[in-house]
Amino acid sequence: MKDLFVKDTPSHVGNKIELLGWVETKRDHKKIIFLDIRDRTGIVQIVGDTRLADVSTEDVVKITGMVKKRPERLINPKMVTGEIEIEMTDVEIISKATPLPIPIDTDGYEIDEEVRLKYRYLDIRRARMTRNLILRSQVTMFIRNFLSKRSFIEVETPILTKTTPEGARDFLVPSRLKKGQFYALPQSPQQYKQLLMVAGIERYFQITRCFRDEDPRKDRAYGEFTQLDLEMSFVTQEDIISLTEELFSSMVKELFPEKTISKTPWPRLSHAEVMKKYGTDKPDLRINKNDPNELAFSWTIDFPLFTKQSTDDFYHGSGKATFAPSHHMFTAPHPDDVDLLNTDPMNVRGQQHDLILNGFEVGGGSIRIHDSAIQTKIFELIGFSKEQQTQFSHMLEAFSYGVPPHGGIAPGIDRLLMALLGEPSVREVIAFPASSGGKIAVMDAPSKAADEQLEELGIQTSNVDN
Ligand code: ASP
Repeated sequence: MKDLFVKDTPSHVGNKIELLGWVETKRDHKKIIFLDIRDRTGIVQIVGDTRLADVSTEDVVKITGMVKKRPERLINPKMVTGEIEIEMTDVEIISKATPLPIPIDTDGYEIDEEVRLKYRYLDIRRARMTRNLILRSQVTMFIRNFLSKRSFIEVETPILTKTTPEGARDFLVPSRLKKGQFYALPQSPQQYKQLLMVAGIERYFQITRCFRDEDPRKDRAYGEFTQLDLEMSFVTQEDIISLTEELFSSMVKELFPEKTISKTPWPRLSHAEVMKKYGTDKPDLRINKNDPNELAFSWTIDFPLFTKQSTDDFYHGSGKATFAPSHHMFTAPHPDDVDLLNTDPMNVRGQQHDLILNGFEVGGGSIRIHDSAIQTKIFELIGFSKEQQTQFSHMLEAFSYGVPPHGGIAPGIDRLLMALLGEPSVREVIAFPASSGGKIAVMDAPSKAADEQLEELGIQTSNVDN
């Protein structure tokens, strides 16, 4: 394993070292040839000779040399390694590179995105993309440490599962063992995390993938995204809100010290208030919208539990529904409004909380229903047929065996990072996102299945796209 990263070379002045990396640039002065060697952590200058004549940019090389302090006038304060250079004693070309199809020494925004995604393994070599992935890893590490210290445990839940209706279209996976039947990929682990509360886990989290077949937007990747999914037993909405504020405030302080949070505690605005004042439930509360380092977090609360159901909503089994859940069907009504479920459902407030950052919804959650009678009432109000209700009977049965009151939230990691890093799209913070046409460009997915595969699954296709 390589034991020396570029960023650590300055602490080796006077030592002979071996450095492994890519050739970022080459400056050929005939007898003296300079290279910049790049790895994940930065670049460093090599002073070499004609033995470097055959080296070209993006070759993978091993340089052996002495780390020397640069003369005062040659120090480059813009580079982490700007005070040193490496006087080469030997070079080995490990792997030659042909010219790259895209430039990687720019920030990359100017390049056609389809092309960047096709060559994503090169695109990630650019400093901005490498930095984004490093920060992403630091963010998830921070979250795991923070929550573990507060007695949360991370539990994995199935990817091959049954539909969890969060209002989007499901991805279906055909079953080979039960032909004609399908798994659905989870739109979120919502039901599983509630079942984990029945199971006595009390504080659960998972950094998990969610799958929704929705059209992509700049703040939503196609197909899949990553959530920090959280659930707690014996909590109030206040507990969930303050835990989330503490988590992200301390994360910003540690990992994004150049950023300032506009207002603490974060403003909490009722849905009615925010719609009246800003005409949206995700207001951009930055004081100066041109300031890339300002973070305006806020909460939108007191949502109506229901919205009017539209004809393309899927809760129409009984064919007579007028209401659709604003958040999802497991959100508890405000305790003062429970009676209104019978008389005036549109005026029931839900115990929902949406987390907003700079005009983006970066998370949502709620206190859940833990009473079977209320859950059944909600199923009726949203128009579930008896058959649809049976699909959720495991929830109602679970609630009959001693269920703690519980609630949670699920901040979206991609969107949060996009807003924190000031990136124009979530795809800038995901290693291999789907392109806007739903194509996984590097692998060229989706692709046709072989006839034998389809036969094994008992599937025939028609209306096939080429
Ligand atoms: N499952 C919800 C979602 O994905 C979040 C939650 O209610 O905790 O939006």
